[in-house]
Amino acid sequence: TDESDWDISEFTELGDEGSAVAVPVVAIVGRPNVGKSSLVNRILGRREAVVEDIPGVTRDRVSYDASWAGRRFMVQDTGGWEPDAKGMAQSVARQAEVAMKTADAIVLVVDATVGATTTDEAVAKVLRRSKTPVLLAANKVDDERIESEAAALWSLGLGEPYSVSAAHGRGTGDLLDKILEALPETPRETTLTGGPRRVALVGKPNVGKSSLMNKLTGEDRAVVDNVAGTTVDPVDELVELGGKIWNFVDTAGLRKKVQQSSGHEFYASLRTRSAIEAAEVSVLLIDASEPITEQDQRVLTMIIDAGRALVIAFNKWDLVDEDRRMQLEKEVDRDLSRVPWARKVNISAHTGRAVQRLVPALETSLASWDKRVSTGQLNTWLKAVIAETPPPMRGGRLPRVLFATQAATRPPTFVFFTTGFLEAGYRRFLERKLREEFNFDGSPVKVNVRVRE
Ligand code: GDP
Repeated sequence: TDESDWDISEFTELGDEGSAVAVPVVAIVGRPNVGKSSLVNRILGRREAVVEDIPGVTRDRVSYDASWAGRRFMVQDTGGWEPDAKGMAQSVARQAEVAMKTADAIVLVVDATVGATTTDEAVAKVLRRSKTPVLLAANKVDDERIESEAAALWSLGLGEPYSVSAAHGRGTGDLLDKILEALPETPRETTLTGGPRRVALVGKPNVGKSSLMNKLTGEDRAVVDNVAGTTVDPVDELVELGGKIWNFVDTAGLRKKVQQSSGHEFYASLRTRSAIEAAEVSVLLIDASEPITEQDQRVLTMIIDAGRALVIAFNKWDLVDEDRRMQLEKEVDRDLSRVPWARKVNISAHTGRAVQRLVPALETSLASWDKRVSTGQLNTWLKAVIAETPPPMRGGRLPRVLFATQAATRPPTFVFFTTGFLEAGYRRFLERKLREEFNFDGSPVKVNVRVRE
């Protein structure tokens, strides 16, 4: 057998022109326990629970492939893990903000048996100014008797509440029809191309994010931080750097420190996560004057898991002497070995040293993140690589790699079609070779394998 009898009809959407990339995104938002996960499961058409909402636990995956009436889309489950009622409104409001920036349609899920809570109202207030279409799902309407409770949710000002029972499947088909109607022809990912690139400044507390933001904007303005999710701006700021306009996302927390007496870490982490997701590229600040910490690693993991482009900025360089510099080099080799491809810049937000050097690093990383390799080029490369280093035997058989295609950009995602399992070591080898050949500096690269049945 060879690649000619491999049936790729199923993957015809994976052309060279990027049609596969543009799948619309539907975000599901709402407070905990309203049944978001059940609704996501319904939409995906499966029974097993998606990862449960566990406080403080970072999820690997928040997006799932779905289809309805022959149309493909992604379902983004925004989660909702909240310790206390006051913080909850704020955090659900932040989910809504991220959704407004990243999704093509938003579904706010409300528990009809409970009615509109103050949290629901706060989120609805945010969503009422959304340019992204918003649908209101009144969940837990298990039978007609609860319909009137659902109708009461008109009060949220988000139009007609669609009654559903995620648990029993009641009304979910109708909701899906409405979702499809609301989705734009052209998903956001393509419509946004050409606008200012979205950048997040992230890193552990006191690493210098606010100082850098001030240095970049050349001003020291404080922004009023609003109470518990009632109002949420200003969240993004447009900044001119290197002759271009950049959109720094989620800067509210950098402008005025959010003082949380309890759960500070938790909020910091939630904020970081939402900033990363709202951005295309993250600048991870690391304090160069101190050892690299576990907290730095956690933020790095969030960026990689989110599949965003990355620039590492070693800040407080003004405090670094020769000894520390040597030590830092060792730490980088040891602790940042999983991102040898990351662009690194040494800066001082305090003195302004080299902050302009962030610009070429951001540009390189985004170019890699956007990069598309043609199927022809990819397979020419693949043949040569396999001829030189075939995959190792498995169970006495040599798995054959038949064909490869780049299924997506942002980040570059490759699919290898094979006759057998490729072990992790060989997948990493392929990624390394891909990087050597096509250069994806500054961007994560995903390597997926489809085994032929
Ligand atoms: P954030 O929590 O990440 O926003 O950190 P801040 O910007 O509030 O900075 C925390 C502290 O580090 C402040 O006292 C800053 O003045 C200081 N700082 C930030 N950047 C630098 C730097 O490049 N050099 C030095 N020496 N101090 C810095």
